[in-house]
Amino acid sequence: MSRPVPKPGILDIAPYVPGKSGAGMHGRVFKLSANEAALGPSPKAVEAFSRTAAGLEIYPDGSARLMREAIGRAFDIDPANVVCGVGSGELLHTIANIYLGPGDEAIHTTHGFLLYPIATMSNGATNVVAPETNFTADVDAILKAVTPRTKIVWLANPNNPTGTYVTAAEVRRLRKNLPPQTLLVLDAAYADFCSNADYEAGIELVKETDNTVMARTFSKIHGLAAVRLGFIFGPSHLIDVVNRVRDPFNSNGPAMQAAIASLADTEHYKAAQTHNEKWRAWLTDEISKLGLTVTPSAANFILIHFPTTLGKTAADADAFLTKRGLILRAVAAYKLPQALRLSVGTEEPNRLVVEALREFMGAA
Ligand SMILES: *Cc1c(COP(=O)(O)O)cnc(C)c1O
Repeated sequence: MSRPVPKPGILDIAPYVPGKSGAGMHGRVFKLSANEAALGPSPKAVEAFSRTAAGLEIYPDGSARLMREAIGRAFDIDPANVVCGVGSGELLHTIANIYLGPGDEAIHTTHGFLLYPIATMSNGATNVVAPETNFTADVDAILKAVTPRTKIVWLANPNNPTGTYVTAAEVRRLRKNLPPQTLLVLDAAYADFCSNADYEAGIELVKETDNTVMARTFSKIHGLAAVRLGFIFGPSHLIDVVNRVRDPFNSNGPAMQAAIASLADTEHYKAAQTHNEKWRAWLTDEISKLGLTVTPSAANFILIHFPTTLGKTAADADAFLTKRGLILRAVAAYKLPQALRLSVGTEEPNRLVVEALREFMGAA
C-alpha cells in the first residue's frame, strides 16, 4: 500500500448517520428526530452564553473547575470525580480509547446506542451484542455474553432509541455479577426524564463501586446540544486516567457558562420535565389509539412500530410525515426497520404528528 492505512477494525465501522434535519425543506419544518429539548434552553443559559462573546480569544479553564463544582452541587457528587468534555460522546470515546484494544470485547444490547460499537471498533476491539427482551436490556443476556475478554459493558439507561429502562435493582444485579475488571458504563443521557421510583441514574453505584462510570449530557433536557458539553462521574482511578488522555481544553468556555446558568435554573428544568411527562403520555395514548404499537418510554421520545402491510410501513409513514414537514428518526440502523422514533415536541408539532398519523393510518 502506498498510502496511510487505518488500524485494523476502523474500516469495518459503519459511519454514524444522523437523522434528517429538515434543512433545505420548504415550508414549516418540525425537527422531531434528534431528541432535542422541546422547550429549548433556559433563557438564563442563553444570556450567559451571549455574555461570553467578549473574550473568545482566551482559552477556557482546562480543569473546568467552576463547571465541575456546579455539577457537584447539582448532583451531590465530588467535583474531583467529574470530567467534562465535548458532549458525553467524546468522553465515551475516551473511555473506549483507554480500556479497549485488539482482542478485547465490549458488550452492548441489540438496540443500544450506535456510538458504542463505533467507540469499540475504533480501538480494534470486538463488539458483542446481547439480545434484548421486549426492546429492553436484559441483565441475564448481558451476563451470558461476558467472557474473560469483556472490558466494558455499555448501557444507555434509559436507552436510545427504544426509550426503555432497566430498574435500579437490575442494574445493581448486573454490576454485582460482572467481573470486577469489567467497567460498567451507565449512559444516563435521558435520566432527567425518568421519574419512576424504581430507577436510578447510577450515582450511588458509582460511589459504591470501583468499576462503574456514569455519563451525562447537557444536550437533552438542558437544551444545549449545539454547544457540546457532557460529563462523566467515576471512581478516582478512572478519572485520573481520563484526565491524562483527554484534550487539555476539551470543554469550551461559552458552553460551560451556559451549562452553569442552566443548572441554576431549576424552574426551567422542572418545566421541561413536566412538559415531557404530559406530552409523552399524550402522544403514547393518541398514537396507540390509531392501532400502532408504542413502546412505553422513560425518555423524551417514543418508539412507534408500524405494520409490514404494503403502504403502511415505517418507510411509508416516514415519507408521508416528511411531506408534511414532520421529521422523525428512521431507526433501521438500530435494527428497527419497522419503527420510527418521535421526539416529544411542543404542543403544535405533537398535535400535527398525531393528526398526520391518523390520516396515514386511515388512508387506503
Ligand atoms: C444524545 C445522547 C448522548 C449525548 O450525546 P452528546 O455527545 O452529549 O450530545 C449520549 N448517549 C445517548 C444514548 C444519547 O442519546
